[in-house]
Parts: sequence; structure tokens; C-alpha cells
Amino acid sequence: MYEGVRAPAVFTPATINEALDIYQRYPRSVLWAGGTTLMGQLRPYPSHDNLDILYLGNVKELHRISRNERYLEMGSMVPIQRFLAVGQHILHPVLSDACRQLGPEIIRSQSTVGGNLCHPSQRLNIGTALMVLESQVEIRDSQSAKASTRWVPVNRLYKRDGSLGLIHGEIVTRIRVFFEEANFQLFRSLGNPFYHPELAVLFAVFAKYEKSTISEFRFALSFPMIDIIRSKDLETAITSKDLPLSSKEISHLSTELYEVIRAYSTKISSVQKTRACRAFEQALQDLNAQVLMS
Ligand SMILES: Cc1cc2nc3c(=O)[nH]c(=O)nc-3n(C[C@H](O)[C@H](O)[C@H](O)COP(=O)(O)OP(=O)(O)OC[C@H]3O[C@@H](n4cnc5c(N)ncnc54)[C@H](O)[C@@H]3O)c2cc1C
Repeated sequence: MYEGVRAPAVFTPATINEALDIYQRYPRSVLWAGGTTLMGQLRPYPSHDNLDILYLGNVKELHRISRNERYLEMGSMVPIQRFLAVGQHILHPVLSDACRQLGPEIIRSQSTVGGNLCHPSQRLNIGTALMVLESQVEIRDSQSAKASTRWVPVNRLYKRDGSLGLIHGEIVTRIRVFFEEANFQLFRSLGNPFYHPELAVLFAVFAKYEKSTISEFRFALSFPMIDIIRSKDLETAITSKDLPLSSKEISHLSTELYEVIRAYSTKISSVQKTRACRAFEQALQDLNAQVLMS
């Protein structure tokens, strides 16, 4: 029964260059961050796939958090709970709410920013919030001769079909979140993306208005098993509208959103479509209420 089976090697590099070097030499290794996704995957031990483990937890550079006037930068191994604690006064509310709503504290202490962004098949809280913040991720490639580095907008981390866009041998090393003011921010998790990803919807909004005119409106919707979507057309349609929006306008925008979602993928369930439209309408009502109260 155990013929051909060996215990996996566990690599524990201390620097990013060492990690890239090991990944180049053992490209079939599984990158291990907090392990909260990996430990839940059914993979009996001993296993015939003989996959080795490349544990990133000892790489100091990946635990760093720094800031300057323009942005906050964090290593991919920063646990969600630490990120929340360090950034409590400077994090955008949309991002801190996405972190807070990411499972119970015990999970937040273990899950990392990079692990949440790089879930192999689910688009989760952090990616959805970072999408409206137009954040960037640094990707290091172990396969190229000089272990090349590139910064890409977070949406480019995922392919058009929603799958993870990393080429084998690549590691996400840093995330950069730009400081930018907004009057209205919101993150909502409708349903549970961990237990029922086929029904859940994650929703993030980042909006600005001057006097009572919307000057910028960004929103992202994640259907966790499918993709995170933004509709530039709908964002443009909302921008420059006067506040408060009338019931007719909200209903019209919601119908347009329904069409965008319907056209995007046939795999989006009707529960998700309904949840997405309700969350969108509620956000516009909340925006109205905020303006009327100010
Ligand atoms: C009970 C429970 C409830 C949860 N609820 C939610 C929720 O509501 N919302 C939510 O967003 N999340 C939720 N999560 C967390 C989420 O599902 C993931 O488990 C978690 O974010 C993964 O982080 P990790 O650091 O443990 O990653 P790991 O499990 O170590 O890795 C996840 C994947 O990312 C890859 N990876 C890790 N780091 C890198 C990197 N730097 N570069 C490239 N690839 C990398 C790994 O190879 C693996 O495929 C929940 C988890 C649990 C256990």
C-alpha cells in the first residue's frame, strides 16, 4: 500500500531569494502560508502525489508592514488579524471590514493576506476589497533567470474566467494599498463564502461625492467560485448623478446590474443574483441617507 510513497519534504526558507531558489529547484512544491485552506483540503497522508511543502512563514521580508505618504505596503505573509491591529487607524474602512468579516478571530490570526488572495478556486474578501481600492500586488517569478519582479493591479492576479492568474513558479510577495479619501465605503458578505461559496456574494463599494454630486463610484462583486466583477459602464453611469438618487433611478440601476451579472456567467445562481442586486440597492439607499443626514 505504501509502495512509492514518501514523506513530503518541508522546506523552510528564511529569505525570499532562498524561497525562490527552492521553488525553482522543486517546482511541484505547494506554497504554504497560514495553511487554513490547505489543511482543509482532503488529502490523506501518506499520499501518492509526493508533493513537497514550501513553508513561507520564516521569510522575514514577507511579514513586513511599512507605509509612506502614498501607500501602505505589506508582505504576503502578514496575518489578517495583525494587519487589522497595525492598520486600525489608517486602513480604508472597506478593507478593514473585509478583514473583520473574514471568519472568526482564530482563523484571522492564522490566515494571511497572500493566502486569501491566492486561494486556488475562490475569490474572497481581501481580493474584493482591494479591487475597489485599485491596489497592486508584487509577483516574483522563480523560473526566470533573475527571479524577476513585477507589480500588477490586483485584478490582473486573476484571469478572465476568475481563476488564479499566477504562472507556476510565481509567488505573491507584497501588496500595496494606496491612500485615497472617499466619502462612502462599504463591505458586505452575504452568505458564507467558506461554507456555501455557490450562494454567497461579497460586495465592496468605494465612492466620492462633492456637494451632492457623485464624483466617483467604484464597486466590486465577488461570486466566490466564479470571479470578482466590476462594471465600468455602470460605474460611469452612476458617476455624476445627483444625490439623493430617486427610487426610480435606484431601481433602474439595479435592473442594469442584473443584466450585467446575467450576461457575465450562466453559473451565477439566482440566489446570488438576487443578493447582489439587493446589496447594491441597499448601498445606494445608504449613500442617500448619509447625504441627507450630513
Ligand atoms: C472556518 C473558516 C471560515 C472562513 N471564512 C472566510 C470568509 O468568510 N471570507 C474569506 O475571505 N475567507 C474566509 N476564510 C479563510 C479562507 O478561506 C482561506 O482559508 C484563507 O484566507 C487562506 O489563507 P492562508 O494564509 O491560510 O493560506 P494557505 O491555506 O496557506 O494557502 C491558500 C492558497 O494560496 C496559496 N498561496 C499562499 N500564499 C501564497 C503566495 N504568497 N503566493 C502564491 N500563492 C500563495 C497556497 O499555495 C494555497 O493554494 C475562512 C477559513 C476558515 C477555515
